[in-house]
Amino acid sequence: MLDEKLEPIFADVLRRNPGEDEFHQAVREVLDSLGAVVAKHPHYAEGALIERICEPERQIIFRVPWVDDRGRVQINRGFRVQFNSALGPYKGGLRFHPSVYLGTIKFLGFEQTFKNALTGMPIGGGKGGSDFDPKGRSDAEVMRFCQSLMTELGRHLGEYTDVPAGDIGVGQREIGYMFGQYKRITNRYESGVLTGKGLTWGGSRVRTEATGYGAVYFVERMLQQRGESFDGRKVVVSGAGNVAIYTIEKVQQLGGRVVACSDSNGYVVEEKGIDLALLKEIKERRRGRVADYAKARGAGAVYVPDGRVWEVPADIAMPSATQNELTGQDARTLVRNGVRAVGEGANMPCTPEAVRLFIEGNVLFGPGKATNAGGVATSALEMQQNASRDSWSFEETEERLATIMHGIHDRCAQTADEYGAPGNYVLGANIAGFIRVAEAMRALGVV
Ligand code: GLU
Repeated sequence: MLDEKLEPIFADVLRRNPGEDEFHQAVREVLDSLGAVVAKHPHYAEGALIERICEPERQIIFRVPWVDDRGRVQINRGFRVQFNSALGPYKGGLRFHPSVYLGTIKFLGFEQTFKNALTGMPIGGGKGGSDFDPKGRSDAEVMRFCQSLMTELGRHLGEYTDVPAGDIGVGQREIGYMFGQYKRITNRYESGVLTGKGLTWGGSRVRTEATGYGAVYFVERMLQQRGESFDGRKVVVSGAGNVAIYTIEKVQQLGGRVVACSDSNGYVVEEKGIDLALLKEIKERRRGRVADYAKARGAGAVYVPDGRVWEVPADIAMPSATQNELTGQDARTLVRNGVRAVGEGANMPCTPEAVRLFIEGNVLFGPGKATNAGGVATSALEMQQNASRDSWSFEETEERLATIMHGIHDRCAQTADEYGAPGNYVLGANIAGFIRVAEAMRALGVV
């Protein structure tokens, strides 16, 4: 049940954003946590502050025409939702995936606002993307698409205005093509306008690894609260993209054994542990699938097409693929198999029912807006290096990432304690993120 002050706010969000289920879900989860805040500090419910937080500052939707390799004209839809700039320029990735519609980008932009606030860095929240499907497209097609998208999006960006990065379907290749086009249009080498750049053209060390590494640091810190660690633990990671790969890398460095990973076609189980070098070769260089990995591994690996990776028993689960990939049913299976900790590497991968079951089952649960904040935090470090025309070593940058993740963990844990829900990181993250944004918005007036 929602607090009576928050009920009409949520009803309004439903009415004003019809059919945007993921956005409703993300807002609902935050509002569920805010009842305790408005009870303790009623001023946060004044001045339509929460209503304003739920309404994006600006929503841009545009046509992206491009020509494929066969000379046919293709049309996609581009989005940028500039959600909240109270704490800094809009910041958040671009997602290229056929399922993308306005509701996806709004939920991601909303989450991003609180995530970015939790990092303690000067970044507002935004998100963008397109229903473009990069799968099976040639480099030349991807380039033409990125150039067309940036031709329109560029006018809305700027290092002090809005700074996109990658997300699903957008990596260094796409950021490169978009940066090239932005540079051409503006005739400025404005490095800080995009993050996730290559190391030779303004990128930051550790940005590639940051989301996965950060998620593992967060879960490690949660485990430490119970005197546990990754050492000797069995871990299941869903996905096989950037977040999953660097989650696997850091888990292995900490002595854990990742026994399964997946993609949208199926999963692979390998009791001895995933061969990360091979997975990287197949995913990062050949742009292949998990099935190709399993085939290359031969006897030791079992490929399960269309299966649910959460059937594989594990001590620790790291959902790192996409939203709502881990359902109530999956959570029951994981709990039955003795899972001790779950860390969301993706954005909103666990359904509300799954989250509830983990919390009720006393499973340590790290919500995405805290657990996966290492990516965007390192983006902010990239902006910092660009602004000072500097470039830091891997060690220095990773050290900063670790400190930021520990800070986020501790802020969430302390806030949960303060609000009488020790160990509830969902509540802690939502409240701590909200208060930082809300304080800035109150100071800046009704704008
Ligand atoms: N897409 C990532 C996220 O969900 C990174 C955003 C960024 O680096 O701006 O946080």
